[in-house]
Amino acid sequence: MRTTLIALAALLASSSALADTLVTNANGIQVGANGKLEHFTGILIGDDGKVKRLLHGEMLKLSNTDIDDAGGKTMLPGLIDAHGHVMALGFTALQLDLTGTKSVAELRQRLKDFAAANPDARWILGRGWNQELWTEKRFPTAADLDAVVSDRPVWLGRVDGHAAVANSAAMQAAGYSLNTQAPSGGRIENGLFVDAAMSLIEAKIPAPTVAEQDAALGKAQELMLSNGLTAAADMGTGPDEWAAMNRAGQAGSLNVRILSYAGGIPGMKAINGGKPSDWLYGDRLHLGGVKLYADGALGSRGAWLKAPYHDMPDTRGLQFLTDTQMLEQANAAASGGYQLAIHAIGDAANAQVISTFEKLSRTYGNDRRWRIEHFQIADPADIPRLKPAGIIASMQPTHQTSDRLMAEKRLGPDRLTGAYAWQTVEKLGVPIAFGSDFPVESPNPFPGLAAAVSRQDINGQPPGGWRPEERVSFQQALGGFTRGAAYAGFAESRIGGLEAGKWADFIIVDRDVSKVDPQVLGRTQVLETWVGGKKVWEKR
Ligand SMILES: [Zn+2]
Repeated sequence: MRTTLIALAALLASSSALADTLVTNANGIQVGANGKLEHFTGILIGDDGKVKRLLHGEMLKLSNTDIDDAGGKTMLPGLIDAHGHVMALGFTALQLDLTGTKSVAELRQRLKDFAAANPDARWILGRGWNQELWTEKRFPTAADLDAVVSDRPVWLGRVDGHAAVANSAAMQAAGYSLNTQAPSGGRIENGLFVDAAMSLIEAKIPAPTVAEQDAALGKAQELMLSNGLTAAADMGTGPDEWAAMNRAGQAGSLNVRILSYAGGIPGMKAINGGKPSDWLYGDRLHLGGVKLYADGALGSRGAWLKAPYHDMPDTRGLQFLTDTQMLEQANAAASGGYQLAIHAIGDAANAQVISTFEKLSRTYGNDRRWRIEHFQIADPADIPRLKPAGIIASMQPTHQTSDRLMAEKRLGPDRLTGAYAWQTVEKLGVPIAFGSDFPVESPNPFPGLAAAVSRQDINGQPPGGWRPEERVSFQQALGGFTRGAAYAGFAESRIGGLEAGKWADFIIVDRDVSKVDPQVLGRTQVLETWVGGKKVWEKR
């Protein structure tokens, strides 16, 4: 009898703890199932964390329901970044940030403070300095760093990633002596390692410990949630990263949803026993795809172009794989049931990937949702090939605003028609997924939404927008960061819109994003972030 009473009491306690939640008095905005902008006033969330009902002004008489008044604030579905690097976001954020330093003295002060605040860091890693902005206008040296930290290695990268300065302890750890020859394509002077020489030190940086990985994932989650992202596709997950994500899932500390794409065929074989995973931890982790690379990036002239670079006519960039190699690797992934996401920046790389997917579609049918990551520079003649081959364009609006001047230099004025061609792609009925490529760009999706609708950066540059014919509408932009990103991850039955049966992932923001100018939209602040019907982040 006594045990029965206790059991009954426990049941009652848990049933009140598992009450439904009504979020009411909201200015709800989402892209509806019909692709049009839909307004709503609240949602009723079941005790399973899923949407029970979307409200359009009606009053509900409910018992056993927690009421949360949104105070008339704007509510959106949780935003989804269709292309990011989750662990790298966390690791980068935990490193010493040297952007904006104005002198060697300021670099030294920040290094000193960081070393004091991180006594357990075995190596001190940092990045972001630019000697052009310093009063001294000279490169930093090992001696500059030794004066502040000499007890452990220090390695600080320049803003462009093409040089880094080591202290003496780092050079010692790497076995460097004055007799060490810089490898070809590299240079070493007074502790400054340039280009190919950087690998001498980088090869010796210890792999992150389990504790460091867990800290990085925690930091990445905090950054995602505070920026309104409730989910992201992780492009190129490695075995250690997959393990960290699973540890968080098992510990109940995974508060974002990660759609994982294994890093290449080796990553695919090393993760999850070489098979796609189930949807784990209440749909918070899923390995569904493999990420491959067709070429490099435009800035470093690694993007593979059909014609020579305008600003370096002796090169067309880098082709990473032959047609046969790409098809072999793609087949290895597709035959194992994986989705494919292939990085392609240059027009030659994009044409190669499209041809590969055309072949795969003949073998595997047309709902395998082949993804091209970036799809930055395309030959206008190739763009109409996307839709028939069942290809999704996974694009990053802030790459356009960051890259436009560089892209003009690399390609010249006559080859920009198929560059960052969002509206052209959209008009052809090709599914679009939007993302940021964090930490290459900020994980904040609002500057991305603003760039998508304006082709302008957060400061409104250039006036009128860059190639404004490729702007998309607000509903198309929001769709790219919600439904489109969910569809691109085979997750549209679970997330991407607030409808009965899908997870109650949503955010409350400080302004009506459907009514403001692009630059105001880009500065939207997130107030609350909810995942699976629970508030997991709140602005303090
Ligand atoms: Zn990326």
